Amino acid sequence: MPTKSTFPDVDIPNVDLWSFMFDQKRDFDDSQVIYRAATGSRQYTFSEVKAAAVAFGEGLQNLWDWQRGDVLGVYSPNDVDFGPLTYGVFFAGGIVSPANPAYSPDELAFQLSNAGAKAIATTVKFLPGAIEAAKKAGIPRDRIVLIGAEKDETHQFKHWTNIRKTSGALRYRRRKMNPAEDIAFLVYSSGTTGLPKGVMLTHRNIIADQCLIKGCVGHWYKSGADKMIGVLPFFHIYGLQGLVNQTLYRGIEMVVMPAFDLRKFLEIIQEHKITFVYVAPPVIVRLLRDPMVKEYDLSSVRMMTSGAAPLTKELVDAVYERFKIKINQAYGLSETSPMTHTQPWDEWSKSVGSVGKMFPNMTAKYVDPEGKELGPGETGELWLAGPNIFKGYWNNEEATRNSIVEEDGLRYFKTGDVGFQDKDGNFSITDRVKELIKYKGFQVAPAELEGKLMDHPLVNDVAVIGVEDKEQHTEVPRAYITGLPTQDTSKDAEEIVSWTQSKVASHKRLRGGVRFIDEIPKSASGKILRRLLKDRVKREDARE
Ligand code: AMP
Repeated sequence: MPTKSTFPDVDIPNVDLWSFMFDQKRDFDDSQVIYRAATGSRQYTFSEVKAAAVAFGEGLQNLWDWQRGDVLGVYSPNDVDFGPLTYGVFFAGGIVSPANPAYSPDELAFQLSNAGAKAIATTVKFLPGAIEAAKKAGIPRDRIVLIGAEKDETHQFKHWTNIRKTSGALRYRRRKMNPAEDIAFLVYSSGTTGLPKGVMLTHRNIIADQCLIKGCVGHWYKSGADKMIGVLPFFHIYGLQGLVNQTLYRGIEMVVMPAFDLRKFLEIIQEHKITFVYVAPPVIVRLLRDPMVKEYDLSSVRMMTSGAAPLTKELVDAVYERFKIKINQAYGLSETSPMTHTQPWDEWSKSVGSVGKMFPNMTAKYVDPEGKELGPGETGELWLAGPNIFKGYWNNEEATRNSIVEEDGLRYFKTGDVGFQDKDGNFSITDRVKELIKYKGFQVAPAELEGKLMDHPLVNDVAVIGVEDKEQHTEVPRAYITGLPTQDTSKDAEEIVSWTQSKVASHKRLRGGVRFIDEIPKSASGKILRRLLKDRVKREDARE
């Protein structure tokens, strides 16, 4: 039997994101600060977010004739401008497609072209990469707009606060959207297999996940009393929803950090008396290992939530023992907008190690490799249904068809994650059936790395899998290669590792190394049998 959430269903207003944020009754004042820069004096109150978004939304229509469904690519580190910019795009009826600022121009160009982006927003620092990628993606240079504190000294690129062609009052109206159909965010994920794909998250998906979070744990924090730290990347849906959207929706101040730096992170928590922190597991590993943590007072933190990758019970227990900070685990995927599970705060001690309870309005079931439903407590692939399940992959009906199953009158998404639900109703994630590798919470698509590696002269055939780095508590990508290595195999391996490094963003580097083998195991249809390679790693580990 499919399992329904144990929480009562919550109402999801049938409005678009603009109305959801700005037109509904709120329990906080317009003067509530929402986004505050960690350094300098830049900040936005709720009413300033709205005013800046209206100005940008009008400007987009005025300058570039922005239409419903037009895509803005955003290539930027975290910045207080991110939220107002996003809502400006929504004002004009557009879609936001955020990209990792660590992407090389080629990686960015892939996303911009695939998304059909009409324009790009970036910061002065990331301008060179954006210019190169825009050229490759066929986006005119004058469609690059700057965000952030720095202005372009050469006056070639407009700042987003100043993009109007004409001065004086404009009479552009906000575009009304169809919440169930119109896309708000196009984020990139490789899903279960293949290259990164655009995940279409509608206005309704995004609103639903906000309502579901609130229905599960949202009553634990309050406007005015709580403060968050904006350290998770805003280019990932976890940061976009957990931080950019949630703080605006709930009227919570967020202190925004452009990049993770442990000392600054600790300083901000202490100075701003941060009460709620979203992180990914690597931050937790740093907290435990670095002696500097002891220099800071972190007693304001009421809860730290970790998601995006697995976190062991041992790490959670160790943090609690040392700092008396509770770490709550959350689970979700880009395709589920993203959060679907978390540990209710009042059940924390009873559910450490699991990802907790499923959000309201959601249904789950576990299936075996043949798609047959499993009984209570059995381990299998997790399928999820609910209003936060994405619309589909952008321009990729086949991938959409392969990931969605209509059953029991519901639309299930096959997560590609393996786990079970215990007798108390807590869910655990134990493995993955999909190819995806996660390096410290960042996605690495094996197919993408394999495609790149095939260009190397020493590579005849290749398969990339994730192997465990126990020291770092993360997976790392390793390439198994057939080729014609020269006499010096280790030199060849080093050469391939450093060659890859020059082509891809840092998190995709072959930190798990290169191994030469005689043959890549494949099925009759030519599909790489990654399981066999994983078994090989287990054997190798056992021998070491
Ligand atoms: P993304 O689409 O980048 O958010 O990646 C989603 C994937 O991250 C999931 O399918 C899981 O494999 C993994 N993931 C996210 N949260 C957790 C968690 N709490 N425990 C284990 N794996 C997780």
